[in-house]
Amino acid sequence: MTTITIEKTDTMPQLESIIQNDGSFFDLIIIGAGPAGLTAALYAGRARLKTLIIEKALIGGMAATTDRIENYPGFPEGISGMDLSHKFEEAVRKLEIPIYYGDVTTISRDRSIIIEGKKIKAKAIIIASGTETKKLGVEGEDRLRGRGISYCATCDGPFYRDKNIAVAGGGNSAVEEAIYLTRFAKKVSIIHRREKLRADKILVERALNDPKIFMIWDSIIEKIEGEKRVEALSLYNNATKIKTKIPMEGLFIYVGRTPNSSFAKEVVNTNKNGFIKTDQEMKTSVPGIFACGDVISKSLWQIVTATGEGAVAAESARKFIEEEYSDNAKKTITA
Ligand code: NAP
Repeated sequence: MTTITIEKTDTMPQLESIIQNDGSFFDLIIIGAGPAGLTAALYAGRARLKTLIIEKALIGGMAATTDRIENYPGFPEGISGMDLSHKFEEAVRKLEIPIYYGDVTTISRDRSIIIEGKKIKAKAIIIASGTETKKLGVEGEDRLRGRGISYCATCDGPFYRDKNIAVAGGGNSAVEEAIYLTRFAKKVSIIHRREKLRADKILVERALNDPKIFMIWDSIIEKIEGEKRVEALSLYNNATKIKTKIPMEGLFIYVGRTPNSSFAKEVVNTNKNGFIKTDQEMKTSVPGIFACGDVISKSLWQIVTATGEGAVAAESARKFIEEEYSDNAKKTITA
């Protein structure tokens, strides 16, 4: 798998200086700088909340690795995920909100987080930590990761020029990325476990009409074969019950996503798959902790829903802080 790592540079805010300059107490900490987190920051900044964003990998999150986004309003010609992410980021930078690169390991009910062994407190927290790609879970996947197996077409697609490759999955990600990969590959086979794609109809039409895309229906990948690199896939056809082995030079895996919620799941309620449960105001089960974007349990995972939820989460956090930390509230606590 292509892991996106960020090298810390002198121009990036250092944790020590953030804690020292800001007294280690923030109004709001936002975990994740994807569309949801950045929109929450935009609204929080405009409400003049002292805000810190923490991102563990890439500003823009999954959206930033998408080649072309065609269903975010305002861009009738489409926009690259990276360009859209830069626009989201620019708005936040203008408000001088620090973005710190780091991995939050724990959050607590008292609205503090642990990062790099240090505790940072806030009056409210918004979890917008998104998802990561799910593994297929078959033999050969771990061993050949980065050697013919990839989870990021925009990162690794150019390495597969004129190659015969496959994409596992049948959702929007699999079909969108298969279409993108036709720019480089000689042939792209979509291997799907059913005979009907889950992806949006407009994408399905495009894929089925693409001369470089071939469908392998009703098929499960049982094993990824190869000594040093991916050489073949062992398939089992659910309909015919026949096993086959097909030569393949690369495999991109897009079989769904898992939420980045492990640091929070002992604290806030999640569904059985780890997606965080929220109400319409983006409140989690813990007062003062909110969640938005792909990490929450919902029915539509889109940039447009993530940004809307980010705005709602920030507004709910603002209200919570105002109510909880108003002079009246303090009097009630101390009375
Ligand atoms: P998804 O919609 O959950 O689709 C996962 C696909 O992988 C399904 O077709 C599923 O098959 C298949 N699959 C799951 N587990 C499998 C396994 N173990 N072996 C083989 N196949 C397996 O995931 P996604 O495509 O990553 O999308 C995630 C969310 O982001 C979705 O809500 C999607 O709409 C959204 N998204 C939107 C866009 C867009 O609007 N342009 C782009 C990307 C993602 P079954 O169909 O049989 O279950």
